[in-house]
Amino acid sequence: MDPFADYRHCALCPRDCKRDRVKGVLGFCGESSICRVSFIGPHFGEEPSFTGVRGSGTIFFSGCSSQCFFCQNYQISIEHEGRTITPSELLFEARSLIRKGVHNLNFVTPDHFWPHIQELCRALREEGIKIPMLFNCSGYQRPEKIREYAAWMDIFLPDFKFAEPELAQVCMGDERYPELALEAIHEMVRAKGFLRPWDVTGNQVAKQGVLVRHLVLPGHTENSLKVLRTLYKEFGPEIPLSVMSQFRPVPGCEKKQKLTRTLQTEEYGQVLGLVRELGFEKVYTQELREEAAFLPDFRDPVNPFPGNRRGS
Ligand code: SF4
Repeated sequence: MDPFADYRHCALCPRDCKRDRVKGVLGFCGESSICRVSFIGPHFGEEPSFTGVRGSGTIFFSGCSSQCFFCQNYQISIEHEGRTITPSELLFEARSLIRKGVHNLNFVTPDHFWPHIQELCRALREEGIKIPMLFNCSGYQRPEKIREYAAWMDIFLPDFKFAEPELAQVCMGDERYPELALEAIHEMVRAKGFLRPWDVTGNQVAKQGVLVRHLVLPGHTENSLKVLRTLYKEFGPEIPLSVMSQFRPVPGCEKKQKLTRTLQTEEYGQVLGLVRELGFEKVYTQELREEAAFLPDFRDPVNPFPGNRRGS
């Protein structure tokens, strides 16, 4: 069986483009069946549960099926910065990364290159490599694909970006995001449970489970409050969260004349107030700072990921 057959009439994500990527026809994600990556290396800007002391072994894929205009990684998701990589080169680079001692393999924006990732995981597992595999995604997944992912992945790190369909429509052109993301997160939790062990110092890195990320958008605290209330209602206060304040305007914001400023202290404070009020027990937060330290620059190969996380 052709392991890359899913690239034909592609339905890997909810866009369901049905394009033949093998013939080079691009779908909404903007990528053909030739795998492209923008960065492979240890990353210390993720939450301590993933970075530990030796870093998270990130593999950033070019393109994205969400195409949010404000994407903080817009250089690779929207501008498609990156290089082509063959399956054997990907395997070679993943092995090198593992030899550096990283705590996990962290596949960032993986869904549209899932067939390549599945083959990579198969090869590594056959070699007896047991390192945790991490699916670092937008939340915009086909819920019915999660079981297939879970056969290879140990950790799911989904966003829950929008609880408001209207906001999802404006930002990424699909008002179905809230229901799809929620269903996908349910499937992830069913498959792997909550993230564990939970240690915000990073001394004990996570081995399995789900942590949900939410980036608070300036001027849209109502959306964030709805996200928190929804997660609380669906999963209770034990669901591990990362509530992020690091939003910075990117060129797409200027073009759309939306989200053209950073988050204000009061806005983030209001969101964290509800985190406390609802009693979420496992939460990473960030310091709200003015400098643009959180915006990655994928043209800087030495240190593209400044930033930090605090946990409770
Ligand atoms: S992965 Fe890309 S081509 Fe495939 S359905 Fe999604 S957006 Fe379309």
